[in-house]
Amino acid sequence: MPKLIADRPVLSMTSDLGRVMAAAKARELAGERVLHLERGEPDFDTPPHIVEALAKAARDGATHYPDQRGEITLREVLVAKLARENGITAHPDDLVVTAGGTHGLFLAMQALLSAGDELLVLSPHWMAIPKLVGFAAGASMRSWPVYLELGPGGWSPAELADRLRAELGPNTRGLYVNTPNNPTGVVLGRAHLEAIAAVARERDLWVISDEAYEHLLFDGAKHVSIASVPGMAERTLSVYTFSKSYAMTGWRVGYVCAPPAMRPVLGPLLAFYTTHGVFPASQLAARAAVTGPQDCVESMRAAYDERRRLLLDGLNDCAAIRTPVPLGAFYAFANIREARGERDVWALIDEWLSIGVAALPGTAFGPAFGDWVRLAMCTRREDVAEGAKRLAAHHAAPARA
Ligand code: PMP
Repeated sequence: MPKLIADRPVLSMTSDLGRVMAAAKARELAGERVLHLERGEPDFDTPPHIVEALAKAARDGATHYPDQRGEITLREVLVAKLARENGITAHPDDLVVTAGGTHGLFLAMQALLSAGDELLVLSPHWMAIPKLVGFAAGASMRSWPVYLELGPGGWSPAELADRLRAELGPNTRGLYVNTPNNPTGVVLGRAHLEAIAAVARERDLWVISDEAYEHLLFDGAKHVSIASVPGMAERTLSVYTFSKSYAMTGWRVGYVCAPPAMRPVLGPLLAFYTTHGVFPASQLAARAAVTGPQDCVESMRAAYDERRRLLLDGLNDCAAIRTPVPLGAFYAFANIREARGERDVWALIDEWLSIGVAALPGTAFGPAFGDWVRLAMCTRREDVAEGAKRLAAHHAAPARA
């Protein structure tokens, strides 16, 4: 029999999320109730006016091959959005509409990384990043733990810049930055981003800026796009998605804003040869999302905020689980050093499943995070509160042998 699967490590599939979801499903099939704090997908339906715009666009004939760069009517309103919200000046030809943020990141890695290049990934980082780098043949990544050091009393901007300089290797070609951060909920402030930008300019590095959670902010936190820092637009690929802000995960619409040098590569080559563009009716619906009322974004944000409060309050007195306050995205990254004791983080994940709480081990977000667990707030407020209650009650019990 011929070898059916090419012999490349990037093609071996391991999914920590898949493992937790399968274990949760098995318990549910056995009649147990499981609270789903593992999944990072909005539980809200897409707002009706966006769904209507899709139906209308499809009826009106937006069903043909798309412009591989993205429909011009969408790119035009995105240029206005980038100027208004992100402080980024762009031309429609600097944008490429992608099949969600994942595809945008894929294109960015393909465009930037050659064999031998290293991407320095600020971590903890989204789970898909290692594979996305891995598909860029011959490139590699290094996970650099940063976000947990930037809370109150943490690294100053100058210290961040010094540490970043020390971290760069001879083959480091770029940085991957994600603010608001999945999984920690850390939101990088302007001063810290300026520190990163100064080093990027000094060492001539690219930046891939993943802004998937730009609208999910709490306690007055502000989102800053690193491409808005002077001298950065020409070396930054800013990646956005409709998935989180508008609860449009299934629609697969996102976009990348890149310097003009990328024009011949991103749309005509990479977007064309991967997807040939995004369904035009989805793009026109995304246009309706950007130009229409934004109260849907705010009401979902407020709901995540309420769940965040319930989670933090529920775990407040639990000494074994310490949760820094997330200021963005919809996750809490909890320190479980005491809760796990001498055990591996997976043993704790399994123990939590036995009390009906599904969560993801911190090691899914980088090898340095075995003392951490991600709790997602993408499920009903009652379930978030109940999950926190079960965890607090469980760890309040006398220490196990
Ligand atoms: N970046 C980050 C940090 C994410 O968490 C996600 C989704 N979980 C994405 C990008 C991509 O999302 P999508 O492909 O749905 O746009």
